[in-house]
Amino acid sequence: MNTKRSEELYSKAKNYFPGGVNSPVRAFRSVGGTPRFIAKGKGSKIWDADGNEFLDFCASWGPLINGHAHEDVVNAISTTAANGTSFGAPTELENHLAELILSNNPYIEKMRFVSSGTEAVMSAIRLARGASGRKKILKFEGCYHGHSDSLLVKAGSGLVTFGNTSSAGVPEEFVKETVVVPLDNEAAVEAAFKEFPNEIACVIIEPIPANNGLLLQRKEFLTFLRDICTRNGAYLLFDEVISGFRVGFTGAAGLYGIRPDIITYGKIIGGGLPVGAYGASAQLMSNISPEGGVYQAGTLSGNPVAMAAGIAQLSLCLQKDFYTNLEAKTKAFTATIRNYAAQKNYTLRIFETGSIFWIAFSNDEAIRTAEAIDPKSMEKFRVLYHYLLENGIYLGPSGYEVGFISSVHTEDELKRASEIFCAGLDRVFAS
Ligand SMILES: *Cc1c(COP(=O)(O)O)cnc(C)c1O
Repeated sequence: MNTKRSEELYSKAKNYFPGGVNSPVRAFRSVGGTPRFIAKGKGSKIWDADGNEFLDFCASWGPLINGHAHEDVVNAISTTAANGTSFGAPTELENHLAELILSNNPYIEKMRFVSSGTEAVMSAIRLARGASGRKKILKFEGCYHGHSDSLLVKAGSGLVTFGNTSSAGVPEEFVKETVVVPLDNEAAVEAAFKEFPNEIACVIIEPIPANNGLLLQRKEFLTFLRDICTRNGAYLLFDEVISGFRVGFTGAAGLYGIRPDIITYGKIIGGGLPVGAYGASAQLMSNISPEGGVYQAGTLSGNPVAMAAGIAQLSLCLQKDFYTNLEAKTKAFTATIRNYAAQKNYTLRIFETGSIFWIAFSNDEAIRTAEAIDPKSMEKFRVLYHYLLENGIYLGPSGYEVGFISSVHTEDELKRASEIFCAGLDRVFAS
């Protein structure tokens, strides 16, 4: 495969950006090799700067549930942009997108649009702290919530710990307000509430943790979180930046039938443009400025072009049987690979929910915690990754990342892709 142009562009980019990229995972550090510079996307496919074609399972890390450059989304963007791209004043399009979401989602009553998932979570945490008058937050090892200071914290040693910062530049004082516990562990959460009575403002979780493998949680664990938050006057915050509009229009809240106090969205909500959102009951949202004392603002919040893209995308998602079809396609795809691996006795599991899948080189029936992922298994992923890339399949360049299937991946494409995956496994296990 010719990668000359990508190599040239990457070496130029290194003069402009740290590591040559504007977001670290794009640099291919965990799989090695040259990141492909993407020139174009259409439907389920992308083309790199050298003209190589790939079937795309990265989907820009989740947002593109209807594939690249969907006609409805592109039309909405161009029509709207022709009438001006930003006003810093309210527009009708914000009402439309909010109406579309709120009238189809019983879990939130009011919302705020922001410009990224990070911003949504950061604002939601401020809301939880502002409304509760408490300082601490509780998060789980293995969940990602964007790059704001109080969330760049990983577990220290011990069951209930103040985390260690996972980034230079995050003051220890911030880290002290973030308690980190393992997923799938009721005792750890109980111990945290016992150690910090009346101090925890909120428990934040990806109800479907999908940023560090796909660590599917037991429903009982999520229900337990709901109960312990209620009993202790803490808010339960579902970070649905990936799972929202992905596993169903109402996300994980709808899938599990659990009502969190605050929900954050991102990725799919903006149709591929930069949009995030957070929502809660009307009463809780009344704490947000200018109604209440919790300040939160944004020059480009509710941007009309982004709103139009979101409306177009979510309208497609609301079509009859949209999620049922997507899930059926995903199941058929993963089943082929799973059956092949079983027949060959390969050490492999595929975990999936809705149209999200994750390949783990493990024999464990369930992987529910970050700790249960064997870092050594990533060597196998590297081999698989490059085999797939060479054969026209694009995944996110890390074995800790999940894959996404879109509504425009055809059954034929998925069948062919599953065959390439199987051949890739032969390569992995031959070495
Ligand atoms: C992607 C993601 C974020 C951060 O969103 P950005 O738009 O990248 O800032 C936060 N939480 C979860 C669960 C995510 O998947």
